[in-house]
Amino acid sequence: MRVAATLSQYAASSAPLIDGHGRQISYLRLSVTDRCDLRCRYCMAEDMTFLPKSAVLSIEEMAELAERFVARGIRRVRLTGGEPLVRRGIDTLAMRLGAMIGHGLDELTLTTNAMRLAEYASMLAEAGVRRINVSLDTLDSAAFRHITRVGDLEVALRGITAARAAGLAVKINMVALAGLNEDQLLPMLAYCAANGCDLTLIETMPLGEVEADRSDHYIPLHHFIAPLRHAHAIHPIDQRTGGPARYFAVEGSSVTLGLITPLSDNFCATCNRIRLTVEGRVYMCLGQDDHVDLRSALRDGGDVDGLIDAALAGKPRAHDFHIERKSTPAVARHMSATGG
Ligand code: SAM
Ligand code: SF4
Repeated sequence: MRVAATLSQYAASSAPLIDGHGRQISYLRLSVTDRCDLRCRYCMAEDMTFLPKSAVLSIEEMAELAERFVARGIRRVRLTGGEPLVRRGIDTLAMRLGAMIGHGLDELTLTTNAMRLAEYASMLAEAGVRRINVSLDTLDSAAFRHITRVGDLEVALRGITAARAAGLAVKINMVALAGLNEDQLLPMLAYCAANGCDLTLIETMPLGEVEADRSDHYIPLHHFIAPLRHAHAIHPIDQRTGGPARYFAVEGSSVTLGLITPLSDNFCATCNRIRLTVEGRVYMCLGQDDHVDLRSALRDGGDVDGLIDAALAGKPRAHDFHIERKSTPAVARHMSATGG
């Protein structure tokens, strides 16, 4: 059988993915494009320069690298970007990676802005995807247009409806933005309850130059959730996804609330993830620039596994974000380049 044969061919030469701090790496985030059909203010500059085609891995190259990672112990893969659903061939890639589910891979997931979700929801379900994250910062259409610069809220909501209809579990990711969506938390909670979605809140992180000073919109989550705490008691629950979120039950609501607080409460100690960019670079940390280049190794017949080992040895203990460094981001790369 093709999948099993491919995995054992790689596994023969490969050791498990344990980093220099003894953490087992089992989660790969695969950025399939740096492009996007939105221009969220905290993520991208209005006038972005994207990578030339020659710098970008082909669908075949991405699939091969993902297969190598799964052979070495990656159990979960998340497709991200940029916007993964604008990548041509995303259906081929999803089907190919989905075929590894049950053959080393436990789960294939995706993070999307939902602009093309209505078109792709059934394909994702068919590929074996069972849950997705959808980024949605507000339910106010004018604010949605402002934050995304070009987006149409109705299109996003139709995408979410299509995903639910296709049987996909949906978690809404909402970035907390002072002055832009602080009034939206309770409406978002109600929307999630009505549509069977969960909700995760994220602090804005200083990645890549954007026009505005990001610290203007930074708000720690314990402030952002104050209105929610006023309306509902919340209780920590013992749910672990191996990711950075801490989870809470919201009294009187079916919604599980996740909080991601990279700045106010660093989450790196249990980090189990590795990131592969569309250029074939492995970044060991969202918040640092160290990387290895698998694209050249892959194209020139170099030692891909040796480079992965070098990356693991160099995985830092923790990121280095500080929002108060005013206009200088922690790293020059945008989230869309590394894969959010
Ligand atoms: N385009 C897809 C989307 O928006 O869901 C996937 C890629 S996007 C880079 C992944 C996630 O990163 C989104 O939830 C987005 O809100 C978040 N994000 C982007 N830039 C960020 C930043 N500077 N700080 C915190 N979150 C950010
Ligand atoms: Fe695009 Fe996602 Fe970045 Fe928004 S957050 S600009 S949707 S990549």
